[in-house]
Amino acid sequence: MSDNIKEEKLVIVGGGPAGLTAGIYGTRAGLNPVVLMGPEPGGQITTSPEIENFPGFPEGIRGFDLMQRVIEQLENLEGRMVYELVRRVNLDKRPYIIETDGGVYKTDTVIIATGASPRKLGLESEKRLSGRGVSYCATCDGAFFKGKDVAVVGGGDTALEEANYLTRFCSKVYIIHRRNKFRGTKILADRVIRNPKVEVIWDSELEDILGDEKVEGLIIRNNINKEKRELEGVSGVFIAIGHQPNSELFRDYLELDEQGYIVTDSRYMTSKEGVFAAGDVQDPFYRQVITSAGAGAAAAIEASKYIDNLN
Ligand code: NAP
Repeated sequence: MSDNIKEEKLVIVGGGPAGLTAGIYGTRAGLNPVVLMGPEPGGQITTSPEIENFPGFPEGIRGFDLMQRVIEQLENLEGRMVYELVRRVNLDKRPYIIETDGGVYKTDTVIIATGASPRKLGLESEKRLSGRGVSYCATCDGAFFKGKDVAVVGGGDTALEEANYLTRFCSKVYIIHRRNKFRGTKILADRVIRNPKVEVIWDSELEDILGDEKVEGLIIRNNINKEKRELEGVSGVFIAIGHQPNSELFRDYLELDEQGYIVTDSRYMTSKEGVFAAGDVQDPFYRQVITSAGAGAAAAIEASKYIDNLN
């Protein structure tokens, strides 16, 4: 264990909407929490091209810009943000131990806000061609496909948003969805269906991705008649089939549900006293920036009450 040991009242693990909002509330409550920003400062939402449903931004705002403002807000409050990755934790008993690549934090109170990561299809070709035409983020990689044909897999809000975004650069955007109805919001679905550059391939799944060094085509399977066909000339495929909670670090210590979400009570307390969880790692239902931020605020208020009762 590192000899760089810090004793803290409150450690917040994760620097997305939930973690940073918990940081704002915890800092304003005088707890001087440390926010461990993790591998994706600002969280998944930083890759969202346009957020139209966060109150207070009538023109919409890019995910990156929104989170930059939240980071700036925490800086203005003299909140502590540390750009370290958590390697392991020990939540057996208090004080809890959070070990990062920069040191060791001992604390009686933790808020876990580690978010979620894109789910993978699990194809061998997906893994092999990842970063060579297979992507999980249109905002990050879309511009590489200027003038090309691409496909998006999925039928939720992410897939719809990404498909729409990709029409800015690409000649044609296929959406491959396994059913005949989108799961995503009607306003996004209508926008996509009206877009002349988009072709929806309903009732179909991606069976294989062709190409040795880069994506050169796709094999899709129709779920109704089981027929397979090749989509030629597709040079990029964006997988947008949902997310899985980043809860692995905590598996040995906390109750998780069957999908891996951290289970909390109505006050955001996990199965361990003094350990709270908020945002996409804990919420299988809403998964919005606004609900994650709200949960982060609530978890920090509860953590503050908990700390008061310890003293
Ligand atoms: P999601 O809502 O869970 O949708 C996942 C999609 O992928 C579904 O259409 C699902 O098909 C499909 N899918 C899942 N596993 C698959 C597989 N193995 N093969 C093929 N298709 C598969 O995920 P999401 O779109 O990432 O959205 C997550 C949450 O974030 C949602 O609550 C969403 O509202 C929110 N979000 C909001 C916004 C916004 O408001 N601007 C933007 C992005 C995301 P089925 O439909 O058949 O299940």
